[in-house]
Amino acid sequence: MISFRFFNEQTLAMISYSIRAERTDSIPLRMNCPACGTPDVQAQAWQQAEQILAFHLIPLGGERATTWVQCTQCRETLLSRVSLPELQILPPHQAGDWLRVRASLPAQLMAVLSVGLFWAPGIGLFVAILAWLLNRKSRSWTRKCSRIGLGANLFVSLALLLLFAVDVIVNGLPK
Ligand SMILES: [Zn+2]
Repeated sequence: MISFRFFNEQTLAMISYSIRAERTDSIPLRMNCPACGTPDVQAQAWQQAEQILAFHLIPLGGERATTWVQCTQCRETLLSRVSLPELQILPPHQAGDWLRVRASLPAQLMAVLSVGLFWAPGIGLFVAILAWLLNRKSRSWTRKCSRIGLGANLFVSLALLLLFAVDVIVNGLPK
């Protein structure tokens, strides 16, 4: 159970929320792995149900269930777009079609930041290079995203360098 507390100083009211996460036992499954490309590979599938609780007791909103599959070859964890019972009855070549590689949260964050910071010379380029290094072998959307981020940052940096060069040619070096 993961808990976090939110403290509101104005009303001195303390509200406590928690997330209850329950994981079913792993079920063996066969699939064509979309991550490493191995056909008819052994995998483990499980379902995770998450529920937000107020005061650790009162459920807020509905329960969110996700199905995960881990490949025994490449150890990649894949997110399923269909439920566990639906996935189980699918033949291996179809099961793989419903599975997606999901990048880690830091890798996702860096990929998004690399695009968001394209206008910031220096720091933006630094973040974009890090994001590209983190995601260059990823099979999720973060790879393309970090490439776009690096491209945009390089473009801005080169444009600024060019402007500076033109300025130096026209006006001479700044004193
Ligand atoms: Zn695999």
